[in-house]
Amino acid sequence: MDDLRSLWRVQPRERPDLDAIDPDADDGAPKKKSRLEDASEELVERLADLQSRLWAERRRSLLLVLQALDAGGKDGTIRKVFTGINPQGVSVHAFKAPTEEELEHDFLWRVHHHTPRAGEIAVFNRSHYEDVLVVRVDELVPETVWRPRYESIRGFEQTLVDGGTSIVKVFLHISADEQADRFRDRLEEPDKRWKFSTGDLEVRKKWDHYQEAYSDALGETSTAASPWYVVPANDKKYRNWAVLQILVATLEEMDPRFPEPEAGLDDIVIV
Ligand code: AMP
Ligand code: MG
Repeated sequence: MDDLRSLWRVQPRERPDLDAIDPDADDGAPKKKSRLEDASEELVERLADLQSRLWAERRRSLLLVLQALDAGGKDGTIRKVFTGINPQGVSVHAFKAPTEEELEHDFLWRVHHHTPRAGEIAVFNRSHYEDVLVVRVDELVPETVWRPRYESIRGFEQTLVDGGTSIVKVFLHISADEQADRFRDRLEEPDKRWKFSTGDLEVRKKWDHYQEAYSDALGETSTAASPWYVVPANDKKYRNWAVLQILVATLEEMDPRFPEPEAGLDDIVIV
């Protein structure tokens, strides 16, 4: 398989200009929609195979950090990308506004607890990055508090990498128009209404502030060992395919192996 990760990777410490990245881009993908779906199906199978090896090997782990604005597609990505996987080896954690107890600790305290154990894939639906995003935009703490967090995050993630965790961080990049369409959908479709929160409209007004905060955060914390990827995400099928590409390429590079079976198994007869 071609390793397409460089299409979306944010170079270490290089601030991406999100305005210059087209959320409708479909670079690298098969042009026909049906081919794109076939390709994703194949990748789902490959992911399942790689995950079973990772789980059996039980030495290393993978962390997927998913960040996006509201209606950016975090939930849908998780549902589609991990559809073929043995649930025993995967954990998903959604980070909400911190509880009182969480606020009484450092910002990484609640996150560290949910990092993957050996053999596991962990998915963060939002993450410690909220502490340099919403926290910055809404001025929940002063800049003297949030800015040094980039450094803390780099150190924290390096600690995970040193402990055998590979990290993949994905920003799902949608346009303001696409977000508006998805909000309208949520309002109109009865089984999506529960997802709509009037608070999301307040957040939408701060669109430019968020783009700014994301650009800074991605640039400050994309490292060789813990890279960010900006995935154009207006088209859901392209988005799923791209995230699958990134995960499969990362796991293929890790190359997890089934453990050696015990010696002498060939001579065993089960009676
Ligand atoms: P949702 O992902 O739609 O369930 O919303 C979760 C909400 O929690 C979002 O509005 C986030 O901005 C918010 N949130 C997550 N982490 C933090 C944090 N560290 N500080 C403040 N708000 C947060
Ligand atoms: Mg929401």
